[in-house]
Amino acid sequence: MGVLSELKPERLFYYFEELTKIPHGSYNVDRISDYIASFGRDHDLETYQDELKNVVIIKEASEGYEDEPPLIIQGHMDMVAVSVPGLDIDMKTEPLKAAINAEEDYIYAEGTSLGGDDGIAVATALALLEDDTLKHPRLEVVITTNEETGMEGARGIDLSMLSGNRLLNLDSEDEGIFLTSCAGGLRINADIPVKEAASSDKYQVREVEIGGLLGGHSGEEIIKGRANSNKLAARLLFGYSKYSGERVYITYIEGGLADNAIPRVTKIGVAAKNSERFEIFIKEFESYIKDEYHKKDPDLYVRINDGKDDAAESTAIYDVTDAVKFLFTVPNGVQTMSSDIEGLVETSLNLGIVSLNCDDKTSPVIHATFSVRSSIESAKFELADRVICLAESFGGKAVISGNYPGWAYRADSPLRDKMCALYEEMYGKKPVLKAIHAGLECGLLSDKITDLDCVSIGPDMKDIHTTEEKLYISSSRRVYEFVRALIEKKG
Ligand SMILES: [Zn+2]
Repeated sequence: MGVLSELKPERLFYYFEELTKIPHGSYNVDRISDYIASFGRDHDLETYQDELKNVVIIKEASEGYEDEPPLIIQGHMDMVAVSVPGLDIDMKTEPLKAAINAEEDYIYAEGTSLGGDDGIAVATALALLEDDTLKHPRLEVVITTNEETGMEGARGIDLSMLSGNRLLNLDSEDEGIFLTSCAGGLRINADIPVKEAASSDKYQVREVEIGGLLGGHSGEEIIKGRANSNKLAARLLFGYSKYSGERVYITYIEGGLADNAIPRVTKIGVAAKNSERFEIFIKEFESYIKDEYHKKDPDLYVRINDGKDDAAESTAIYDVTDAVKFLFTVPNGVQTMSSDIEGLVETSLNLGIVSLNCDDKTSPVIHATFSVRSSIESAKFELADRVICLAESFGGKAVISGNYPGWAYRADSPLRDKMCALYEEMYGKKPVLKAIHAGLECGLLSDKITDLDCVSIGPDMKDIHTTEEKLYISSSRRVYEFVRALIEKKG
């Protein structure tokens, strides 16, 4: 008996539990891809599995539905695999421990992320494909790989076998909200040269830590105006240089974990000539920064980590004055708000990662990674060009990677109209239509499917991509029933 076997709809949760038994973090998708493809073949369905391990399964229309437009059902098979520190689990090889919190109506995994994002899409698709009592148009199920690491599956997939243009994406986390457009994005990697300083002068190296920030997703949470620890580090270093009249010398800088996460902690080994003056400056800096962010980041701190002091002669010191000017002046955060949709961020960027990279001893650099987003393609590239231009003016270079297009709002959408009418019929209220300042695969897919008519929905989830991930049970049931009804409804 499975842990989820008492839950209804039984087959939905059966498949969801099967997925939890197969490790499927991004880049570890061979097994789950084979599982989905075998499902298709075992059910005598037209099945495609490509080199990227994307899977497409097609089920021809049932009797009486041959003239209905096909429906594409789409989601991704990979998940963000994270576990609580110290937990003895190898998420590459070991199954998750799914569990139920009945009182609060959700499923979670003990000590790890659950993969409700986006396992619920895969389970929904398999349960529907299997259901021979369902009356349906031609169903075209598209399950992509490595969405969480830059949408690589969707980027490379060939969809020429599809004949539909109506696509239901199941990669959202708010029941009752229908997503109708999303931003496009790209990554910028910039390298600004720095010089190793002559070690004749004696400096004292002190580790400064800027931390306690709330951070968050660089798409959804950029609008909150929270502090970015990398930008604060640049401000601190530039400020100290101005205050002391010295150039900026450091032994290292480390801030941020991913281009698309607002960085929460940055540590710098600062080499100051006058340690006392440096301490005074840090205290002052902390007091006005805390003041500026007292509402948005109440736990922010700037501190010198005692005990991490280091004698100058043991580590190389780098003159990063110009690189700091780049990091200080480069734009960050919300740039423009949409003039079409109230409250929607149109264009933004996030300085996600900063580090001192001395791998090439002859040309050390400050490395910076940005995530740029915009619902307007030309605005996205204009902002990227400004970052590139600025990097070049400080003697560095910057390159774009991982570009994906936005998903534009479609004024005329038969799928959306049908879904809105059905939702009202089933639940007695209108769904909320929403555009988001984050990426979905719908943008890339709209480049591959002519005249794509797309809506994204999903059951309630919380804390996705973390060990606290929750997938709500009744909400999953309702969304499943909604998708089932949508398939059966003609027109
Ligand atoms: Zn997802």
